Amino acid sequence: MTSPRIAVVGAGLGGLTLARVLQVHGLPVTVFEREPSPDSRSQGGTLDMHAGSGQTALAKAGLLDEFRALARPEGQEKRILDEDGTLLHHEQPADGDESMPEIDRGQLRGLLIGSLADGAIRWGHGVEGAAGRSVLFRDGSSEEFDLVVGADGAWSRVRPGLSEVTPAYTGVSFVETGFEEARHPEPARMVGNGTMSAYGPNRAVLAQRNSNGRIRVYAAYRGPQDQPVSEVLSMFDGWAESVRALLLEADEPFESRPLFTLPVGHSWPHTPGRTLLGDAAHLMPPLGVGANLAMLDGADLADALAAEPDVDAAVRAYESVMFPRAARLARFAADGLDALFSPEGVKGALRLFSELTG
Ligand SMILES: Cc1cc2nc3c(=O)[nH]c(=O)nc-3n(C[C@H](O)[C@H](O)[C@H](O)COP(=O)(O)OP(=O)(O)OC[C@H]3O[C@@H](n4cnc5c(N)ncnc54)[C@H](O)[C@@H]3O)c2cc1C
Repeated sequence: MTSPRIAVVGAGLGGLTLARVLQVHGLPVTVFEREPSPDSRSQGGTLDMHAGSGQTALAKAGLLDEFRALARPEGQEKRILDEDGTLLHHEQPADGDESMPEIDRGQLRGLLIGSLADGAIRWGHGVEGAAGRSVLFRDGSSEEFDLVVGADGAWSRVRPGLSEVTPAYTGVSFVETGFEEARHPEPARMVGNGTMSAYGPNRAVLAQRNSNGRIRVYAAYRGPQDQPVSEVLSMFDGWAESVRALLLEADEPFESRPLFTLPVGHSWPHTPGRTLLGDAAHLMPPLGVGANLAMLDGADLADALAAEPDVDAAVRAYESVMFPRAARLARFAADGLDALFSPEGVKGALRLFSELTG
């Protein structure tokens, strides 16, 4: 019996996990990535990998020990402040708590890339779209497969044809920057070992410790996307100087990241030869779920393809698990975003965290 020809579009966390777990099962796979090389773009901040989702996927990928060697359990520390800089909620992980340790996204992606057989990823292969079971490349060429998986994120080129839905602006934008602890020890101390968030009405300053003494900072607000940086910074006039210092002492360029989502419960009619995973399937607000879910999708789809020789039946089995799971978590993330960015300011955030820990 010959193995199915499987194409994965996108070497993000979801596509790479799918490819790795397929290879663990002895199934061949080709990943097409538009970026020219693994290091062509900075991978941004830190991610928490949850027991039961991201960590389950890593276990199926045979990479849990390597993950633990890089992960930062102390990064589970959480501090919530108000706009005056008063600490209102402080969670410290217990010794041995490995329920959601942090890891730099770049380190996690590097771990997955390094685990794949040579040649599994074709870098510099931008995909224009998919037609039937064919992948159409930007240079005008195409290649035929038994299954094409769109793991190409929010603006997926594989999604059209399965679903006509496109992501919509949530009304909330993040403006990202960062600094080095060694050069700005005071604001770094305020962040602690994990995440610090200060909330005011419809806005927040969020800061997260990454590895190598770097701190990532986000000025987040509810309002029109792509506002000039000077206007975003002026939203925090009157806030505690200690909180404002996180933004004002930042030494990286500010980058606007408007948050887009697909509708809660997004799905498509089952289509032989094609499916989606991760953000391409269920883009949701960043409440610590998206990467975990993308990786779990990848691992589940790989398991289904290994267990069921009929590719179409395997994809159906995957979709029947993925759709309701994604809908449930997308609801949680959408409600969470509304709680965090509300006219109530920090009260909404405190309520959400007490529900989550309560
Ligand atoms: C500020 C922020 C913080 C976040 N924090 C967390 C967190 O703490 N925990 C968490 O679980 N989630 C978090 N998320 C969500 C998480 O980043 C995403 O859900 C996750 O990266 C989705 O993975 P993916 O593999 O589906 O897509 P992506 O990571 O977007 O990867 C898609 C890949 O496809 C490639 N690609 C795109 N188009 C093409 C094309 N046409 N041809 C070929 N290749 C293509 C891209 O270059 C990329 O490599 C956060 C998101 C944001 C914005």
